[in-house]
Amino acid sequence: KGKKQAKASTKDVKQTAVLGAGIMGGGIAYQSAVKGTPVIMKDINQDALDLGLNEAAKILGKGMQRGKVTPAVMASTLNNIVPTLEYSAIKDVDLVIEAVVENPKVKGIVLKETEQNVSDDTVICSNTSTISINQLAQSLDKPERFCGMHFFNPVHKMPLVEIIRGEKTTDATIATVVAATLKMGKTPIVVNDCPGFLVNRVLFPYFAGFSKLVMDGADFVAVDKVMEKIFGWPMGPAYLLDVVGMDTADHASSVMADGIPERMQKIDNDPVTLLYKSERLGQKNGKGFYNFS
Ligand code: NAD
Repeated sequence: KGKKQAKASTKDVKQTAVLGAGIMGGGIAYQSAVKGTPVIMKDINQDALDLGLNEAAKILGKGMQRGKVTPAVMASTLNNIVPTLEYSAIKDVDLVIEAVVENPKVKGIVLKETEQNVSDDTVICSNTSTISINQLAQSLDKPERFCGMHFFNPVHKMPLVEIIRGEKTTDATIATVVAATLKMGKTPIVVNDCPGFLVNRVLFPYFAGFSKLVMDGADFVAVDKVMEKIFGWPMGPAYLLDVVGMDTADHASSVMADGIPERMQKIDNDPVTLLYKSERLGQKNGKGFYNFS
């Protein structure tokens, strides 16, 4: 009582940039645009930019078919996404969300290049699923304006965003990213930097339990049926792994086993790894546990 509460000053994000126009970058750009914040979408590849824009147009097209999106919203959303191959286009943005490939070396270079092309008070985030935020922060001269901003796939449907605080991240940075997340119509939670953050910390032990059941001889279709139809979850573990992608799931479980070996172990002959090695990646290439056409 009577104590003054320190309040971190929040910067209103009026212009965003997304680096990488893939599944996640395209989805994040769409989400920012549809909620009224203009976004510059940068990639190194024109085909990727075209795919990212097409993805946004597809989501809007489906919304129009269901009568949820008006032609005016479609036009203004697409107008709000400006594709580019040049760093010079991001110089005036308030927030940069890096969503390039999950490779620490590439991300380190991209973050360094970003810092050289934006102003000193631009907030910079990474959408990494598995790389330590403290490790990525080492590529920046001003790590205090950096944190994780972890969206889930598909971005336009999944409400949660994990905001990951690095050791050097300031309260003002977190406050700005929380406000930007809310403005994008999403629900933020702030978590500390650790392997798997929060969601994957819960999800991956569940996947491991499922893998062991399958290795014990359980039928994955039967397990999915129980979890979905009877237990009542939106989908079972095999289907969810097909959505996540075997490559992503295999990589994330290795990172977690390396980072928290006392809690997570890599399973020999894990069906996820076997599917990954036989190029059954899930929905992204049309075959995983299930076949997609
Ligand atoms: P993706 O392969 O679909 O897209 C990556 C994009 O980055 C490609 O378009 C590529 O051309 C581009 N790129 C590569 N190098 C670049 C550079 N130097 N500058 C600009 N663009 C560059 O990958 P994705 O699935 O969208 O994943 C992106 C990030 O999001 C990763 O860090 C991943 O861990 C994370 N993530 C993915 C998911 C998921 O389910 N796919 C979920 C949450 C977070």
